[in-house]
Amino acid sequence: MNILGAGGLGCEILKNLALSGFTDIHVIDMDTIDISNLNRQFLFRQSDVGKSKAIVAAEFIMKRVKGVTITPYFGKIQDKDEDYYSQFGIVICGLDSVEARRWINATLVNMVDVNNPESLKPLIDGGTEGFKGQSRVILPTITSCYECSLEMLGKQQTFPMCTIANTPRLPEHCVEWASVLEWPRVFKDKKLDNDNPEHVQWLYETALRRAREFKIGGVTYSLTQGVAKNIIPAIASTNAIIAASCCNEALKIATTCSPYMNNYMMYSGNDSIYTYTFEYEKKDDCPVCGNLASDFDANPEWTLEEFMQQLPDSQQVRIKNPSLRTAERNLYLQSPPQLEEATRPNLFKKLKELVSNGQEVSITDPGLPFSVKLRLLY
Ligand SMILES: [Zn+2]
Repeated sequence: MNILGAGGLGCEILKNLALSGFTDIHVIDMDTIDISNLNRQFLFRQSDVGKSKAIVAAEFIMKRVKGVTITPYFGKIQDKDEDYYSQFGIVICGLDSVEARRWINATLVNMVDVNNPESLKPLIDGGTEGFKGQSRVILPTITSCYECSLEMLGKQQTFPMCTIANTPRLPEHCVEWASVLEWPRVFKDKKLDNDNPEHVQWLYETALRRAREFKIGGVTYSLTQGVAKNIIPAIASTNAIIAASCCNEALKIATTCSPYMNNYMMYSGNDSIYTYTFEYEKKDDCPVCGNLASDFDANPEWTLEEFMQQLPDSQQVRIKNPSLRTAERNLYLQSPPQLEEATRPNLFKKLKELVSNGQEVSITDPGLPFSVKLRLLY
C-alpha cells in the first residue's frame, strides 16, 4: 500500500488503513509541518512544526497502532520511478496538487503490461476543496483515468509564464510576477510565506511598481493576498469523509469482500449532505489512456503566442509552460536555451503559416510524462 500525501487527507487515510489492519504502508510527502496544519492534521503537534509530515506521521501511527510498519519518504512523488511503484498493491492519493495527480496517473497507466496482471495498480484518488470532495477508483487502462476527467476541475486561475514575464495585461499578472519571479530572484533561499503580512506587503508593493510600469490599474493589497494565496480553506470533516471512502475502497479491493466503486463519487456538504456515484467514462481522446488527438477550435489569424496563451486555461490541456511540435517540425520549445532561441521567432508568426487545418500539434510540459495531442480546426 502506498499513500501519496500526508496532509489533511493523508493523516486520515494513514490512520484508517492502520486501524483497518493494513500492516505495510509507505507514505510520501514533500512538505514540512506548518502551525496552520494543526487544527486538522491530527498526527502533528506544536513541537513537530518544521519537521517532515511523512516522517512524523509514520512515527505517530507506529507508536499508537501495534504491528504496523510505515515507511516514510520525505520528498516528491516524482523522485520515485516505476520500479518503486511496482512494489505496491494499491496506490492511494491524498494530494492537493493537480500536477502531482496527473503525474502519478500517467505513470501508473504507462506501467501497465497487458501480459502481466500484477503490473496493473489500482489508483484510489481522494480530493477535497472546502465543503466539496470526491473519491474515485481508477484501474489504469481499464476505467477512465484522472486525465480523462480533467475537465471536471473548476476553472483555475493560471497564467502563462511568458505573459507574466513579458507582456502583463491584468493586475493578477503583476502579482504573479512578484511572487513567482521577483521573490525568488530577490530573496534567493527564503521561502515565500503567504500568511506573513510582511511578505504580502512586499508582494503588493512590488506588483504595484510593475503595474505602474505597464500602466495597469487594479493592484490592491487584498487582490495581492487573494492571488498569492489562491486557497480555499480546508475543512476537517470533508477530509474525514473522503478519506473514509478511499479507505473503504482500498479494503474492498485488497480483500475482495465486496464490489468496489464504479468509479466516481462526488460529495457536497455545502447546503446539506449529498453524494452521487456514477461511472465516469473513458475517453478515446484522453492524452494518457486514449489514442486519438482531441479537436481544438483555433483561429488561423492567432499568432503562435496567442494560441499558447489559451493553453493553461483550456479544459483539455491545462499546461502552463508548453513546448509545441507537429510531426514535421518544432513550433516552440521551452528548453534547452539554444532551441528556445531558435524557435522563438515562431511565436510571432500566424498559426496558419505554421499548422495546416486538421493537423496535429503535440504539447508537452517538463513536469508531465505524456503529451497532449490537439487537432487544430480553423
Ligand atoms: Zn484517460
